[in-house]
Amino acid sequence: MKYLDQEKMAIKYYFANWKMYQSFASIKNFLKEYEKNSNWQSGFANKIIGIAASYEHLYYVQSFYKKTPFLLGAQDCSHFITGPYTGQFSIQSLVEMKASFCIVGHSEVRKFLGQSNELIVLKFKLLLAANISPIFSIGESLVQKNEGMTLQVLFDQLEPLLNFLQSYHGAVKIFIAYEPIYAIGTGIVPSENDLKKIFYFLNNLIKEVPVAKNVMFLYGGSVSAQTILQFQKIEEISGFLIGKASIDFQELKKIVEL
Ligand code: PGA
Repeated sequence: MKYLDQEKMAIKYYFANWKMYQSFASIKNFLKEYEKNSNWQSGFANKIIGIAASYEHLYYVQSFYKKTPFLLGAQDCSHFITGPYTGQFSIQSLVEMKASFCIVGHSEVRKFLGQSNELIVLKFKLLLAANISPIFSIGESLVQKNEGMTLQVLFDQLEPLLNFLQSYHGAVKIFIAYEPIYAIGTGIVPSENDLKKIFYFLNNLIKEVPVAKNVMFLYGGSVSAQTILQFQKIEEISGFLIGKASIDFQELKKIVEL
């Protein structure tokens, strides 16, 4: 039987992943546009928007969160607690900035920063311990997809997490983002059939963990006002990770309104 929690399905999450697209000037424009539409979100009690800014912008972005209903989040964090780690960003700083969530394991950090799945799972655990919702990102490459390896790749990425979650009983919301690498920034999206198969598979894995009720699935990869309708058909998807299309306020607004 399908495991679908009604309460879980009632809320939709829109996480903007600003990557390294924004500057202080463009964030200021985003905020100006938001301010012109500041009543806009009152009609969306069941839609939650989060913005994952880059480290250098977090403090700046936090100052305008006081004026917006958006959740604050980061795109990555350090697996070190504190100490002589040049260039790292601590989870403690996220806690003090009242960040609600943090992406870990995005394919861009796996690829460009060489982060291993083991390291990413460690960050996931540390975030839970700090009461910050992790967004654990998984996904296969086009080659792996064409070789029929999709479910195996996803399982391998999730297995250590599932083992850990067997004995986790906390109340922090957990997000698992399926982001096929070939769909990120390309305009190419998986077929409805593939998505159905993949989210059914993920749901079956997660329903076995004690906190399944608090685990939400996201889809990420070329989400836009043009593509979102096809992802909304998949009932296991509780929300979206939106890259390029989230950096412009009007674009993001369009997506959330659909
Ligand atoms: P994209 O990025 O929407 O630009 O494809 C999504 C992501 O990488 O999270």
